[in-house]
Amino acid sequence: MVRFLPLFFLLLLTACASEAQDAANEMGDMTIEEFEPTSSLVVDENPVTRAKFPFVDVHSHHWRAATMTQGAADTLIMEMDAMNMAVIVNLSGRSGEALRMAIENMEKRYPNRIVTFANVDFEGVGGEGWTENAVAQLRADIEAGARGLKVYKNLGMDVVDTDGNRVAVNDPRLDPIWALAGEMGIPVLIHSADPPNFWKPRDKNNEKWLELKLRPNRYRPPGEYPPFEQIMDEHFDIMRKHRGTTFISAHMSWLGNDLGALGAKLDEHPNMVTEMGAVIYELGRQPRMAKEFLTQYKDRVMMGKDSYNPDEFHTYFRTYETEDEYFPYYRKYHAQWRLYGIGLSDDVLQHIYYKTAMNVIPGLDSALFE
Ligand SMILES: [Zn+2]
Repeated sequence: MVRFLPLFFLLLLTACASEAQDAANEMGDMTIEEFEPTSSLVVDENPVTRAKFPFVDVHSHHWRAATMTQGAADTLIMEMDAMNMAVIVNLSGRSGEALRMAIENMEKRYPNRIVTFANVDFEGVGGEGWTENAVAQLRADIEAGARGLKVYKNLGMDVVDTDGNRVAVNDPRLDPIWALAGEMGIPVLIHSADPPNFWKPRDKNNEKWLELKLRPNRYRPPGEYPPFEQIMDEHFDIMRKHRGTTFISAHMSWLGNDLGALGAKLDEHPNMVTEMGAVIYELGRQPRMAKEFLTQYKDRVMMGKDSYNPDEFHTYFRTYETEDEYFPYYRKYHAQWRLYGIGLSDDVLQHIYYKTAMNVIPGLDSALFE
């Protein structure tokens, strides 16, 4: 009997191999990137296309605001009305003449509906009079109507000074800029670094594997960029040094996956608030923890979206407002998982939709939220 066993297993293996071959023939050579299973789960579905309360989108980019046509501006306002967006904050106002034109073209046309933030040009840090000029320009931009300063992630990663050295986020040569924002009562929305997984090995354990495969330039190889933790330490250091300035730490400080740590940062920095731009997939995978966090920190968190796409806002509303289960997120390479509704109370919704923003961004018209 014993001597026949190997033959038996050989036959079994051959049978399995041919079954696998049949399956391969039928299924083709689809890759894991193409895999898009339809959920068979049958549960209540409550899509939301209009927010329950008027809201402020504190994180948007309208690069062509200075030259947007009347027709395009009308369409934008119509889309905002349809989803109950009272105010949109254009973080890409630039400075000087471009900023003046963006404000003239958008804010004058639709008073109170559009807010414009200025940007500082970090080209030439370390050059003769750079800091004085940057401060004077920002002062002029605020006087021209900028209601905040937006700082892009290139600071701390790509910006170099006149000697070719990386400019850290907490470089002392920038201190007068942060101080001026505080003195003039405007917030600084600052985006530093990127999701921490962009610094990690691109292996099977990396949650951002697909994103790094499809967008290889998002990878941050050691040696080319400082460590994630270093950039974020610099980011929080300017908050410590400038308690009189309000900082909007963009994208939940990339701590949406660790709300305990984010809460600790908010506790440590009373002049810090945050926004949820492009990280709704973190909240939607932990509805119970997210509810607890947002309820506790409702005065410190604002609605932000980042890329402007009306349909994608619906996923944010559904995540905040419903208790739906296992519904799709719109961008597979951001997150391979589905989302769960948090079911926030009206009070918390009103805070994250507009009340917190009214405390942070100067000059919002309260009549829009009645
Ligand atoms: Zn952005």
